[in-house]
Amino acid sequence: MNYKYMDQIYKIKNIQSMWDKYCLKNNDTLFNKDLMKISNHSQYYNPNISLFLNKDGFSPDYEDNKKFSIVLTHDIDDIYLPFTHYPYLLTNFFSDKKIFLSQIKWIINKKNKPPYLNFKSIIDIEKNYGAKSTFFFFPPTDKIIRNIKNTYTPYNVLHFEKEIKTIIDLDFEIGMHTNYYSYNLLNKVLDEKIKLEEITHKQILGVRNHFLRFDIPGSWELLHKAGFEYDTTFGFSNSVGFKNGMCHPFIPYNLISKKFIPIMEFPLHIMDGALLKSVNYNFRKAWKITKLMIDLTISCNGVLTILFHNDIFSSLYKSDWLKLYRKILDYSYEANGWLTNCISVYEKFVK
Ligand SMILES: [Zn+2]
Repeated sequence: MNYKYMDQIYKIKNIQSMWDKYCLKNNDTLFNKDLMKISNHSQYYNPNISLFLNKDGFSPDYEDNKKFSIVLTHDIDDIYLPFTHYPYLLTNFFSDKKIFLSQIKWIINKKNKPPYLNFKSIIDIEKNYGAKSTFFFFPPTDKIIRNIKNTYTPYNVLHFEKEIKTIIDLDFEIGMHTNYYSYNLLNKVLDEKIKLEEITHKQILGVRNHFLRFDIPGSWELLHKAGFEYDTTFGFSNSVGFKNGMCHPFIPYNLISKKFIPIMEFPLHIMDGALLKSVNYNFRKAWKITKLMIDLTISCNGVLTILFHNDIFSSLYKSDWLKLYRKILDYSYEANGWLTNCISVYEKFVK
């Protein structure tokens, strides 16, 4: 993987304060969870390194001479309705009768269409904006460990080969979502990648670790060794922002080996649940922060990476989340942004 803008990255290396931020040298404070819960941590709304680089002439080529990009991603955590969602379904039955009835039908007879098997409808929304996205799927396995409690209904992607093929045929992208306990085990990640590629019949370039589980710099080294070209796990799970001041895909640096790690990082700037939770599910506040971050992205000709899980597109109780997603697409489209997936931007950033 040959990053096209390495000269620009070297420029930051000579400015100590920026370099420390770029490498997250003092990352103890950055990972302080209490701090992350404070939604008004304005220092993280500052993509100062990307702004500096842009002033210095760093302005990547985007499709159709667009000046910025919004990278759209979806982690496929659920296809079946987890029983933890049942109460929300029942208490919101009046908001959309059609969705309500189809999900109830599935609860009664599991042979019906799974509630969150909705990739085509996500694609249809995005196509209205000429957009593309990346879908991150768990690899095939009988047992997906979702989290410590593992209270969810796992899916086996082998049962959804037809849907995977449709996503690929429509020129959208498939990436890998590592299992909760695999993310730091090279052999497991390698094995998962090979198994997922047996379904996609093409190389999987990108990855996001489930739960944003990540060690710095170890996870980058591991994912590179497993053959991934890019990662997009690097973000906040309790809030939003530009974690290391970058609003562009970048090449991580290992402060221990003192070497760059040959993998591209798409910093994850906005995750649906993290954003909504940090503003107590207040739509107006969530949009205010999002708009600020899109405007900052425009001002540095940057790339804003966002994650909206697939369940929000079919959840009666997450209608505000979907409203927010549509508003992001509307606003960025009107501002002449390039709404696309990881691989399309990746190709613009490599030689
Ligand atoms: Zn996940």
